[in-house]
Amino acid sequence: MSAAMEFIVILFCALLVSVSASAQSPFARSTSTPSPSPTATPIVFSAQTLADLKRIQQAALPSDYAYKQVAHLANNIGPRLSGSTQAAKAVEYVAGELKSLGCEVQLEKVMVPHWVRGEETAALVEWPGMAANTTQKIILCALGGSVATPPDGITAEVIAVKNFEDLKTLPRDRVAGKIVLFDYHFDKRIAAEGRGGEAYGEAVVYRSDGPSAAARQGAVACLIRSVGGEEYRIPHTGMTTYADAVPKIPAAAVTAEDADLIVDLAKQGPVKMKLVLTPQTLPEVESANVIGDIKGSEHPEQIVIVSGHLDSWDLGTGAIDDGAGVAVSMEAANLIQKLHLKPKRTIRVIAWMNEENGSAGSKQYAADNAGKIDNHFAAMETDNGAGHPLGIRMKTKPEVKKMLAPIAAILQESGAGVLEFTEHAGADIEPLEKANVPAFAPIQDSRFYFNYHHTAADTLDKINPHELAENSAVVAVWAYAVANAEVPLAR
Ligand SMILES: [Zn+2]
Repeated sequence: MSAAMEFIVILFCALLVSVSASAQSPFARSTSTPSPSPTATPIVFSAQTLADLKRIQQAALPSDYAYKQVAHLANNIGPRLSGSTQAAKAVEYVAGELKSLGCEVQLEKVMVPHWVRGEETAALVEWPGMAANTTQKIILCALGGSVATPPDGITAEVIAVKNFEDLKTLPRDRVAGKIVLFDYHFDKRIAAEGRGGEAYGEAVVYRSDGPSAAARQGAVACLIRSVGGEEYRIPHTGMTTYADAVPKIPAAAVTAEDADLIVDLAKQGPVKMKLVLTPQTLPEVESANVIGDIKGSEHPEQIVIVSGHLDSWDLGTGAIDDGAGVAVSMEAANLIQKLHLKPKRTIRVIAWMNEENGSAGSKQYAADNAGKIDNHFAAMETDNGAGHPLGIRMKTKPEVKKMLAPIAAILQESGAGVLEFTEHAGADIEPLEKANVPAFAPIQDSRFYFNYHHTAADTLDKINPHELAENSAVVAVWAYAVANAEVPLAR
């Protein structure tokens, strides 16, 4: 057979396969794959999509776009607590960047709390064995939402307890008029196993519920041991939540070292502290979720969300929590545009507002989209730092794991091939998750994240640019894959 003849025969066979594939399958792009038998699992990703996903991955890994975005948010704009001038600037910045990428941008109005930190100082003024006329400085920070002490502070005895049960065993008159310290330890062993989120979850209930628990027994202020994975004598802030119908008492997190000090001295005899906290809760402020869409070419009404939260705590510059999550989500849009790819479904980048102290942005989005939840095809949030990604965590029906196996195979090239189920994928996508929208998050190395989380040390240097790019690859590959899936994800 001549070369030309051979070519014609091959062409003819290819045509036959192509015709039969498009006749039997609704997935016109999967022409290079033989037509499936009626009982076979339907193809989830076309050969073209899989090839495009590899291009996205190869473009993501060397890209510095996400790093530049998080650097701007952290270094140029700085801390972005809800209601602050910096949070407003960040909204304007991200909206501008998404517009320049060619996204259709909208600002979704949301009213947010405006809490501002004040003076926060503490010292031990009486303890067993003290030298006359001395004090010992205690390093702490107010918990988000805390009420203030009187301007000249509170001076009271400190009662240290291990946990809620321990507190309940004390009679009310042992607690009334005192400052309660919850000395609950963050479990470093499970964090070292890579389950930092679980260690955090166990300890963080003292931050949220400790102050009201102490107030129920008559305490005048509440301290918690900082919820964090390492001891650098820096305190970790975070939201506290006052229960209804319980007096609101000032609340702060002391460093792990200072918690140890107080516990040691309190075993020996009475310990008194002077505590000054002067935060203020100002009137609510209008802010926004920033939403940027790349419209789908076939199903523009179906939405695939990639997201992070734009607000941050005020002590650091919100690099790992969660400038990184916003930056990798923006990078997904950047890569898709740069490679001139056309997703079939709409890819929606969201920079959420107010995750840290109220989740007003997430609630607003759920309310504004109440009638359109079924159009939400899938949602991802990146909010566990910028550490090396190991794969994708998913709150979905079991069959989705098998559907996404081809994506995992691609991501495994950068060590991110794990697919695992979770009970909860992300704070801001929780309302969608609860409405059965398949929800996802990158699995990020969480061994060190909680060392810096909510502290003054959440700064840009904690981000390794290469690991950030690896996260971008996961987010962008996932987004484009899901937006181009030939079949809906089970829900
Ligand atoms: Zn966060």
